[in-house]
Amino acid sequence: MTKVIKSLRGFNDVLPQDTYIFNKTLKTLLEILDKYNVSEIKTPYLESTALFARGVGEATDIVEKEMFSFTTNDQESVSLRPEGTAGTMRACIEHGLSYNQEQRLYYFGPMFRYERPQKGRYRQFHQLGVEVLGIKNPALDAEVLIMINDFWKALGLSEYINLEINNIGTSEARAQFGKALYDYLVQYKEQLDADSQRRLESNPLRILDSKDAGTQEILQNAPVLEDFLDQESIEYFEQLKNILTVNGINFTINPKLVRGLDYYNDTVFEWTTTRLGAQATVCGGGRYDRLVEILGGHATPGFGFGLGYERLLLLIEEIHGKEVAPPAQVFIINDGNVQAYTLQVASLLRNAGFKVLNNLAGGKLKKQFAKADKSGSPIALIINEELAAKQAVNLKYLATGEQKEVILSELVEHIKI
Ligand code: ATP
Ligand code: MG
Repeated sequence: MTKVIKSLRGFNDVLPQDTYIFNKTLKTLLEILDKYNVSEIKTPYLESTALFARGVGEATDIVEKEMFSFTTNDQESVSLRPEGTAGTMRACIEHGLSYNQEQRLYYFGPMFRYERPQKGRYRQFHQLGVEVLGIKNPALDAEVLIMINDFWKALGLSEYINLEINNIGTSEARAQFGKALYDYLVQYKEQLDADSQRRLESNPLRILDSKDAGTQEILQNAPVLEDFLDQESIEYFEQLKNILTVNGINFTINPKLVRGLDYYNDTVFEWTTTRLGAQATVCGGGRYDRLVEILGGHATPGFGFGLGYERLLLLIEEIHGKEVAPPAQVFIINDGNVQAYTLQVASLLRNAGFKVLNNLAGGKLKKQFAKADKSGSPIALIINEELAAKQAVNLKYLATGEQKEVILSELVEHIKI
């Protein structure tokens, strides 16, 4: 036998039993996005590597070690998109959607990161992201958080997911804090975990994210970012907290939350769950007022988030169990040479709005009944040559066994589900 070729590690198929909830959930989210007047943008999966180096930041995990990058035949360095914000900003700058304008945009699609695959962490995964451009106002940050809160409500997840927020100030405040943090941590360099030792030189703020207990202990007495914030950031954060409170959004303040990407300022947030083990963050984002400028556009404030779609689906299954597509409402049994007629019957029902499974494979009557029962359909139509000649069908309610002959012209009104 020829060797079977398998999918790549961390690249998943979404199988038929999983696509139903995949699409249903997306529909729920898209309806909410529409209520907030957010429109879709679709950008390419492949972009110039320089876009992510600049837009995500050279010293981030993503750019340092997680990108699928390669050189094209004409020697251009390109990467599969590891996130959606940089590409969206590139498109907005390129098409004049950012300068002096307001945009409320969302994207949905696959992202690619070279990570160690595990539950909730894949090399190809989907993100739903939102980017709002042109508005710097804590009420806007709050509106986006209220919208995400609407997602959880609509999906029955509110009890299982918590909002953490922080204000990381301006890049100037962070630079000063980074320097103070460096000066403090460098004294303990040898005791830090290996990742943190590396980050000490490149991006000391990311050490705050470390999961290492020893590093966390050293951090106990480290300088805190809050002490470096300017008055504007402090007030911005106060206003955001007030608006959220007035609107009934629960949150906790996590002073250690900095987020992995370089481009954030002021508001950052994560929605986390305790129900997915280590892959706890379902959705994360924040404000990025300098990103458009970093990418060569005119300064334009931005606020957005990325939602890990597979993690969301895992959480839904964990809380609500597995949900598959409902069965056909009508199962048509083909008894004899009746296919041409059953196709007419099926069309009639489908046009009337019913979901129909026409058992065109035919076979022995007993087997077809067993298949009808197994399908979960509440109704079977039994059609043989005699009924076909009369333009009629036998309608059977599978739960009760009740059966009656119905002429085709009256069929739709007889189907009660
Ligand atoms: P993590 O700390 O879990 O690596 P991150 O900070 O790298 O997350 P972001 O870049 O903020 O994640 O992406 C937004 C969301 O996308 C995450 O909160 C998560 O839900 C999801 N996500 C990130 N990486 C992966 C992955 N490799 N597989 C599946 N989902 C992912
Ligand atoms: Mg990551």
